[in-house]
Amino acid sequence: TDEARSAIADIAQPGTAFSKTNGTSHGRLQIVNEHQEFSKDLSPHLAKWGLLDKGFAYDVVAVFGSQSTGKSTLLNRLFGTSFDVMDESRRQQTTKGIWMCPSAYGSTLVMDVEGTDGRERGEDQDFERKSALFSLASTEVLLVNLWEHQIGLYQGANMGLLKTVFEVNLGLFGGSAESRQQPKEKTLILFVIRDHVGATPMANLTGTLKADMDKIWASLSKPSHLADATLDQYFDLSFAALPHKVLMPEKFEESVTELRKRFTDRTRPDYVFQPSYHKRIPADGVSFYMEGIWEQVLSNKDLDLPTQQELLAQFRCDEIAAVAMEVFLASAKAVRRPVDGGSVVEGLGAMMRDWMEVAMGKFDKDASRYHASVYQRKRSDLVAALHASLSPLFLGQLKNLHKSANSGFSKDLTAGLKEPGYDFANVVTKARSRARDGFVQAAKELSLENTDWEYEHELGLVDDDLKHIADQCRADETKKMVNAIERSVKKQLLEPVEVALSKPTPTMWDTVLATYRTVSATAEASYLSKANSFGCTDEENDRALSTLRSRTWLSLRRKLEEQTSDANLISILRASFEERFRYDEAGVPRVWKPEDDIEAAFTRAKDETLALLPLFAEITSDHLPSLPPAPDNEDDAAPFDPSTAFTLLTPTKLLALESRFKREADAAYVEAKRSMVSSVAQ
Ligand code: GDP
Ligand code: MG
Repeated sequence: TDEARSAIADIAQPGTAFSKTNGTSHGRLQIVNEHQEFSKDLSPHLAKWGLLDKGFAYDVVAVFGSQSTGKSTLLNRLFGTSFDVMDESRRQQTTKGIWMCPSAYGSTLVMDVEGTDGRERGEDQDFERKSALFSLASTEVLLVNLWEHQIGLYQGANMGLLKTVFEVNLGLFGGSAESRQQPKEKTLILFVIRDHVGATPMANLTGTLKADMDKIWASLSKPSHLADATLDQYFDLSFAALPHKVLMPEKFEESVTELRKRFTDRTRPDYVFQPSYHKRIPADGVSFYMEGIWEQVLSNKDLDLPTQQELLAQFRCDEIAAVAMEVFLASAKAVRRPVDGGSVVEGLGAMMRDWMEVAMGKFDKDASRYHASVYQRKRSDLVAALHASLSPLFLGQLKNLHKSANSGFSKDLTAGLKEPGYDFANVVTKARSRARDGFVQAAKELSLENTDWEYEHELGLVDDDLKHIADQCRADETKKMVNAIERSVKKQLLEPVEVALSKPTPTMWDTVLATYRTVSATAEASYLSKANSFGCTDEENDRALSTLRSRTWLSLRRKLEEQTSDANLISILRASFEERFRYDEAGVPRVWKPEDDIEAAFTRAKDETLALLPLFAEITSDHLPSLPPAPDNEDDAAPFDPSTAFTLLTPTKLLALESRFKREADAAYVEAKRSMVSSVAQ
């Protein structure tokens, strides 16, 4: 009958005999070749077919059946595919392989198995078993193609094939002995009865097939933990019949069109792609998954689908994460340079959150379809990796914020200290909170959720720096103030000291020291009134006051030294002598007459003047001030040493001044004498 059928086919459809050359061109892909190698081109083809991005929104259908039962013909008619139809002229297919082609009527992958029918030829059932394993691991609907007249022939090739399918399926989806879990995925077996004549009612045919299935199921040697498993836990059975393609071509086409609706019309109750049949392999993982399955099948290892799905998930999640990471790094790259260069990048936190969101969104969209716990694990890995790659930006930006807080603070201080009547403590407090708040706010903006990032340490450093800067600034201000007070001290000492020393009396030192005390007190009060607002510490105040005291004392000392310089003293003595010698008691210039006792007048004036000189030698008083300590930077400690501090002229100096003065006085005496002689001579 086979020969008869093909003879008819040859006559009726000569085109099919050459379809191998006609139909190979577009679309289909040999995913497993005759050398049992898996194709490297599946993913690109899925992309080309527009299926790679479908997620779970795609379906898979495969076909089983004896050789030359019109399987490829059926698929081509049903799905608009281009699988090879047997070359009638050669009568025998020699190649083996698995082909894949997209349906022209929806997001459906159609698989066709080609091969010798080993069972009938008493050889190689191996490929059949392998392809059964392979197909079941991904297929939702398995078309079982058979001639009507084969039905009920229990010993026939179909039955052996189905037994293989059932066994393989138990291995794949039966669950392990330990887990005892019910299978999650079912598969639909759709029997397509070919060359349906119609003489036997459909109900009888399907009844016979069902009974056959039960018999096969009962005859399976099941593992002990699956002894009670029933066929319908794993498979739903469905049926369709097609008229003779060659004898009733129009009826055949009609029936095929009708049958196609079961694959395309979701609203039909007999729609075949029910969600429960889906093997839950995301489309972008199909290639990796199928190749993995095929490798396992080839190596004759026990095919453990949960493990395969985990492997798939790991591989794909890594790939998806790598893509997300790449996009992420590209975005982050733009700010790396400014941050490294020390700039504060405005809104960096928002940017980072944005990049994270985009990257995680990308990852979640594709990866969430994979094995849940693998996905979750890879997700946290990715989050950690993203955080790690952002961490240098975070730290860099913190450093830059720190620097900017410092410089902002300094700037604010400088500006604040230029304000008239500023209050130092206020200026510092304001500037500090501005700098600190700015830092904290920016650091908070920069923080990402679920990181162990913290800015408190850097904030501590900022606080230290601000304190240091403020201290430095206060020290500068204090120094300036002390200098200003010192200038005023010098000014205040100037006149009273000059006046007191120009008319030497035994009480002149009391006058000088009284002035010194008043000026000192004023200086200290002036310092304290300002220093109060600086918020200086007691220690700083003590140091500044003692500086001020030393400088005040030193100012006095220097002024006194200046006033008691040789030239000054000589001129003071000269003035004192002349006042006594050249003027009378009434202050009228004397004109010496011969009866005048020039000598006595001269001696008195000279002695009285000379008696003044020792007054300058030492500062003497009943109330000598206590001396301030010498400042550290003062090389000459003598002005602060009580044994020398009050001494202005040494005895040697006194003698030198005395003789110098005497010479001047003698000259004045000689001149006086001469003037008298000359007036007498006139
Ligand atoms: P496959 O080996 O199962 O893929 O079968 P093919 O599709 O290659 O077809 C094998 C032969 O059966 C070809 O010569 C087809 O022309 C012929 N054929 C296809 N469909 C039918 C059909 O519905 N009835 C009959 N009698 N022959 C068919
Ligand atoms: Mg074929």
